Amino acid sequence: MRLSELRTGQECVVVKVLGHGAFRKRVLEMGFVRGRIVKVLLWAPLKDPVKYEIMGYAISLRRAEAEMIEVVPIEQRSAEDVAHDASSVSDTSHESPTHSRGEIAEREGRTINVALVGNPNCGKTSLFNIASGARERVGNYSGVTVDVKEGTFRYKGYTFRMADLPGTYSLSAYSPEELYVRRYLRDKSPDVILNVLDASNLERNLYLTTELIDMDRSMVIALNMYDELRESGAKLDYQMLGEMIGVPMVPIVARSGEGIHKLFDTIIDVYEGRQDEVRHVHVNLGHDIEPAIRRLIDTIKADSGIDRHFSPRYLAIKFLEGDREVETILAKASDYASLMTVRDDLRADIEKLTREDISSTVAAEKYGFIAGALAETMVPGEVKKERSTSIIDTIVTNKLFGFPLFLMIMFFIFWATFFVGQYPMNWIESGVEWLSGFVGRIMPDGMLKDLISDGIIGGVGGVIVFLPNILILYFCISFMEDSGYMARAAFIMDKIMHRIGLHGKSFIPLIMGFGCNVPAIIATRSIESRSSRIITIAINPFMSCSARLPLYVLLTGTFFYQSAAWVFMGLYLGGIVAAVITARLLRRFIFSKDETPFVMELPPYRIPTLKASMRHTWAKGVQYLKKMGGIILFASIVVWALNYFPIHDVDLEQKTNETESIDLSRDSYLEIAGKFINPVMEPLGFSWRASVAALAGVPAKEIVVSTLGVLYTGDEEVSDQALGERLESVGPSGRPDFTPAIALSFMVFILLYCPCMATVTAIVRETRSWHWGAFSVVYNTLLAWLAAFAVYHIALFF
Ligand code: GDP
Ligand code: MG
Repeated sequence: MRLSELRTGQECVVVKVLGHGAFRKRVLEMGFVRGRIVKVLLWAPLKDPVKYEIMGYAISLRRAEAEMIEVVPIEQRSAEDVAHDASSVSDTSHESPTHSRGEIAEREGRTINVALVGNPNCGKTSLFNIASGARERVGNYSGVTVDVKEGTFRYKGYTFRMADLPGTYSLSAYSPEELYVRRYLRDKSPDVILNVLDASNLERNLYLTTELIDMDRSMVIALNMYDELRESGAKLDYQMLGEMIGVPMVPIVARSGEGIHKLFDTIIDVYEGRQDEVRHVHVNLGHDIEPAIRRLIDTIKADSGIDRHFSPRYLAIKFLEGDREVETILAKASDYASLMTVRDDLRADIEKLTREDISSTVAAEKYGFIAGALAETMVPGEVKKERSTSIIDTIVTNKLFGFPLFLMIMFFIFWATFFVGQYPMNWIESGVEWLSGFVGRIMPDGMLKDLISDGIIGGVGGVIVFLPNILILYFCISFMEDSGYMARAAFIMDKIMHRIGLHGKSFIPLIMGFGCNVPAIIATRSIESRSSRIITIAINPFMSCSARLPLYVLLTGTFFYQSAAWVFMGLYLGGIVAAVITARLLRRFIFSKDETPFVMELPPYRIPTLKASMRHTWAKGVQYLKKMGGIILFASIVVWALNYFPIHDVDLEQKTNETESIDLSRDSYLEIAGKFINPVMEPLGFSWRASVAALAGVPAKEIVVSTLGVLYTGDEEVSDQALGERLESVGPSGRPDFTPAIALSFMVFILLYCPCMATVTAIVRETRSWHWGAFSVVYNTLLAWLAAFAVYHIALFF
């Protein structure tokens, strides 16, 4: 609770003072230190300042200032309590509660809120994971962390509450991430900002640091990737650098955990005010700008209406640069109009002098500050690392080879997914068959047996065999991300993406869609332009997610064994073509082109640790298994029941009536539904069972296969055949339900039609409009139908 929330007569104990350094120091000096009791003497809704009593003195504080003091209120004691106290009469009755209040404040004060701030890819999430024991995704490209992750852990009697913020290069209000981080720092006022730097790329990383320095908050720098700096042979006097910029620096290796104890010790010291390296330096902006800033600071300081979350210097610099958010903060000033005029005049003067816009001058000055600081403290190593990176890059991003190389890598991934995945898949398949046979033998005939062996084992078992394939696919995607190749892929794709009116930046969410469309759609948050973002979201479902993989494995394994990798590749490319067409249509008819320029950086290559890649892969595997136990199990049972109930008795009757021929007039609920939609699907070659499977796949696409598993458990004699063989065998209609042409058409339909429910929800949420959700459902289904129709009829020719 904040001091500003208390009313006249209430008492509280001080826990901590938030806000920027100079302000904090002044408030602490007034006596607002942890454990002190404060009483509100006079508070009125419209009154500012408010009067407080502390240590027997009356002090008045601005409301904006009281907002920055965290307190624990002391409960108003009821009359009975007071009476009780009076009757039990003890001299210390006043002492002891005070003591326990002090304890509360002490305990509360031992919670340190830490915010991780740093460039994309500097290792924030790795640090967050190793400190909090979490398993957030790390990746070697920007934009993985799209919102805040919080974790809590205890260390040396303190509770650390750590927030992993999105990566940013600066704190202007240019991109959503930057705005997000800044609002977070403002609204949450973390006790300590932990600025994570990539030590192998200090110059660029320190730019953000200069902005944080302007904010004048409590801060510690984690010099991450120190192993890379060491390896390059560079020498850095981080002690001295830390002293120069007034922020303690601790070298760490987030990946192995080296140095993090020292890091957290330093955070505690800074939090408790025991670090003497800490001081506020001014990042000098040169003689053209400094006088202007000083003038603005004076005006800002004099005004009491302006909130105290940010330091006057930071506000002044950003205001001078014309930052919109800071303008709204300053709009509360008593004379905003004249502040604006002063600002505009100052800026016009400076720009006339320097002949460039003020933001460029500020940036140039800051880079000058950094270069100066590094020149004194760092001896660069041989640029071996750089060179090997650039050699690889010339090949990988080469105009001629880059794209074929990318296709080859994708082809290899699909090949591995299918062929390497075959072996463990066969083991699991035999396991499932054995289990099914075992249940068949030990259980008495009846509904329960049918439920377990056909419904549950048939449905869930039909999908679980694809777990190895999915793990392999995920492993490959994780590897590409962690190594830095994904960023190159985005780079190569940039030109092509421009052709469809998008950026290279849209490419990573699209590739992520091969894993699962939901996180991929969320990852589009890093795209600055709204129209690009919406298009990227709308075409994402065409990226064939891993839930569709089981069906491909099943059908290509059965019908196209010889050319499986090509069929896979074709399906994935088919999805991409659908995406391209859709993107172009959207650009053409709904959004006009936008040309916002943006930086696409190439992080250095890193060899991902096997452990890290395995960990990501396994985390996905667990998610998949959970889905098995949840929605897929449920859907299998529902499908089984719909297929079983209304007809089974009839079926039995007929069997006892020694009707040998297979009953053609079965009338299960499922069949009713299947036959109902089948006229629409028949042109695609679908049997009613295929139509039902497609319908059942709307909640989640894995259910397509589990439904086939339930529908094709069929005859006793063939029940121990694998599902693929059962699909191939001649169905009750006298013709096989699936032929190669039907299999292709079915796969294309499942690839493109209505996204799963989770994806539709994500689309609605991320675009903040149900229109796009509805668009995806209708448009994708229509497109799927047309594409499947075309594929079926073309395939019939061969
Ligand atoms: P974030 O974007 O700041 O959250 O960065 P991540 O935590 O996702 O890390 C980006 C990449 O750097 C990953 O591939 C990590 O494995 C790698 N990485 C993180 N910390 C270190 C480190 O201390 N040393 C080295 N060599 N690599 C690291
Ligand atoms: Mg991250």
